[in-house]
Amino acid sequence: MSITMDLLFFVLGGIIGSFLNVCVYRLPREKSIVTPGSSCPHCGKPISFYHNVPLVSYLMLRGRCRHCGGPISVRYFAVELLTALLFVALYRGWGLSFELAVFLVFVSGLIVISFIDLEFRIIPDTLSLGGLLVGVGFSFFRDGFTYKDALLGILLGGGVLWVIAFVYELVRKQEGMGGGDIKLLAMIGAFCGIKGVLFSLIFGSFLGSLVGIPLMIAKHADAKYALPFGPFLSFGAVLYVLAGDRIIYAIIDIISPR
Ligand SMILES: [Zn+2]
Repeated sequence: MSITMDLLFFVLGGIIGSFLNVCVYRLPREKSIVTPGSSCPHCGKPISFYHNVPLVSYLMLRGRCRHCGGPISVRYFAVELLTALLFVALYRGWGLSFELAVFLVFVSGLIVISFIDLEFRIIPDTLSLGGLLVGVGFSFFRDGFTYKDALLGILLGGGVLWVIAFVYELVRKQEGMGGGDIKLLAMIGAFCGIKGVLFSLIFGSFLGSLVGIPLMIAKHADAKYALPFGPFLSFGAVLYVLAGDRIIYAIIDIISPR
């Protein structure tokens, strides 16, 4: 756990983050993620130039297009910084291990899903179902997490939200939970198992209400119109990967002190 390694993972995260930005931009628009690069929404010139140096380029250009000076979404900077910080946190949590590789991939997927859901209110199947398959694939090689854990996680993740959505529709006569959220929770199950699914659902819902209810009141809107659920489920899953067991033990300690 040296400072050099922290820096290495920060830089790696920044580079991966700028690639994730391309995915956030392209996947919902069903464009190729390889060619050509993103273009400035104002002048149409390619903006791949500032992917050269993640984070730094955005700051140097003060978030503006080099060609026309038009503003470029702060999302580009946010995704790069978030990815860089999470890569360092994951390295610190898991050290150099196969689990680290698994969770770097998992969290990268969650970042793309969250930012697409925030912007477009959809979660592409390519990411959720594709991620689910990747999670199952990893499970054959992981230590202390088998393909059975992955399958049970998928069943619970897919099942729990499906039942909630089904009951909600019966009671309210309208669609509640999006199908995208159900597939996302199934994907979380493929990487984190039953425990991770429950943890993500509980913490995601808790944080969602913490942010969502005031927003609902302020906007006089229905919860499902106010906020997408995907980023909150993802936040719960990231929290689980980084500190799930510690948080669970702390809660058990509070409920039944030894
Ligand atoms: Zn421009």
